[in-house]
Amino acid sequence: MTEYICEDCGSLLTHLNPTTLQSIKEVHSQLCPVKRQKILATAEAEKLKRASSSRNATIPMQAVQTAAGAPPSAASIPQQVATTPSSNEAADSSSLKLTGTGTDHVAAEGPIDTGFKSKRQPAGKFKGIQVWGPYDPPGQLGIWGTDVCVDFDICISDGACIDACPVNVYEWLETPGHPASERKPFMIREKDCIFCLACENVCPPQAIKIFKK
Ligand code: SF4
Repeated sequence: MTEYICEDCGSLLTHLNPTTLQSIKEVHSQLCPVKRQKILATAEAEKLKRASSSRNATIPMQAVQTAAGAPPSAASIPQQVATTPSSNEAADSSSLKLTGTGTDHVAAEGPIDTGFKSKRQPAGKFKGIQVWGPYDPPGQLGIWGTDVCVDFDICISDGACIDACPVNVYEWLETPGHPASERKPFMIREKDCIFCLACENVCPPQAIKIFKK
């Protein structure tokens, strides 16, 4: 008796007649489910490989087109290149100046106007922090912040807010020439605020308003 073991599925095929066994082998080879699965898996893997290499080839091609002078489409710009600063970010880089000709102002009295956002105009940003006008440095600095808001024209630089803040939102900002005080609690880490209201509650002239999210 001759026999044959399928290398794909391991089935044992036997027959006394070698010619007949050869025929059985050929039929099995066409119908073997394991062999069929292997063929399909290989084809799928090659398809994925082709798709991946064609994606990788796309970026250099677009780069060549751009270098040749053709304007790149928005979709053709690689993601890391497309992270150009927005106009707001660009404005941030041209931060408000703390110096100027506003030298004839007097200190304002507290408390801070909690409805200032509907009454004042944004004057610009300082290191990414919103400043609300009127803004006429160094004597008039307006209200600073979006959620952690301090009226710099009221602030007397008592420092209680800086001491009270458990998450270190503030740092001192030198403001020479301001009539109320020559340094202010700058809310540089405003995004870290946990809205505990500690600073708002300890501020002697009530220059702080926290807007809870
Ligand atoms: S509310 Fe609390 S966490 Fe937020 S700035 Fe004031 S003291 Fe800091």
